[in-house]
Amino acid sequence: MMVQPIPPSTDTDTDTAALALDVQGLSVEFPTRRGTLTAIEDVSMQIAPGEILGVVGESGAGKSITGLAVLGLLEAPGRIAAGSVYVGGRRVDQLSEAELTKIRGREMGAIFQDPLTALNPLFTVGKQLVETIRLHSDMQRKEAQDRALELLRSVGIPAPEERLRQYPHQFSGGMRQRVVIALALAAGPRLIIADEPTTALDVSIQAQITALLRKLCDETGVGIMLVTHDMGVIAETADRVCVMYSGRVVESGPVADVIHAPEHPYTKGLMAAIPSLHDRVETLSQIDGSMPRLNARPSGCSFHPRCPHAGPKCSIATPPLRKVDTTYAACWLQQGGTR
Ligand code: SF4
Repeated sequence: MMVQPIPPSTDTDTDTAALALDVQGLSVEFPTRRGTLTAIEDVSMQIAPGEILGVVGESGAGKSITGLAVLGLLEAPGRIAAGSVYVGGRRVDQLSEAELTKIRGREMGAIFQDPLTALNPLFTVGKQLVETIRLHSDMQRKEAQDRALELLRSVGIPAPEERLRQYPHQFSGGMRQRVVIALALAAGPRLIIADEPTTALDVSIQAQITALLRKLCDETGVGIMLVTHDMGVIAETADRVCVMYSGRVVESGPVADVIHAPEHPYTKGLMAAIPSLHDRVETLSQIDGSMPRLNARPSGCSFHPRCPHAGPKCSIATPPLRKVDTTYAACWLQQGGTR
């Protein structure tokens, strides 16, 4: 059974209304006693309804911080220092915590790596779904129960009538993540942030979950930000991709173009590191070195100590993101060739 499509937005204040997500020039800082650390800088990305944007990079690239900033879930003392975030045309980065709490769940849902953190072990799955649906709608209990059943069916849980009466510990890891996806969809959000949603699951289950996200995205029109370190998952699932390195977007574009003709040397390294389905590994052995720490970012292009093509200019000046054919890349190689 298909989940009901999302109705058109009626609460918009800019021409970004047509987008599920519009992030412009977002920077996030963490003030410390030794100075201010910049976690992400000048990050921009858009997601259309029914589109999956893959946000990819190694650990420390800033991709999860970007997702948390959009959700308004940055841990103190982290703060948005610049930029704007619009979800379905509504600016959300300046809302109070109380306003954000209302928006979260209704306008934007979240799926994290460990489904157990999103589920209360003390309540049945049915109760959690019904309460979430009623919190964000004016549905009566019976109507909400029907909706919960429909949601469990839509995420591929067999015998949903029976499953509604069960507790999270009675579900396998993959089935639990399906329940979390149902919870994220419960209020018909415009945007879902899915942060490493398959990383904790068996390889055989991972493909089922990413296929489910794709199906639900197509059926409901929700926009999905799929955060992952795995370029293979992006290749299989996303429409467009943003590659992040050291807090910045270094390449973005349609997934097929970025995969078949990556412009940025870091993206090329990620592509070379896609393991076969039977040999998934966490490390990206094809790129020597590691992601710089927040307090030790190299000058100029942060990738220059690891880049096989680095020239004198690369350690002095930060390359801007510029259009290269059908994609955008932040690399001096593509911008006049002098580096
Ligand atoms: Fe490599 Fe220079 Fe391009 Fe950075 S700007 S990716 S160091 S060639």
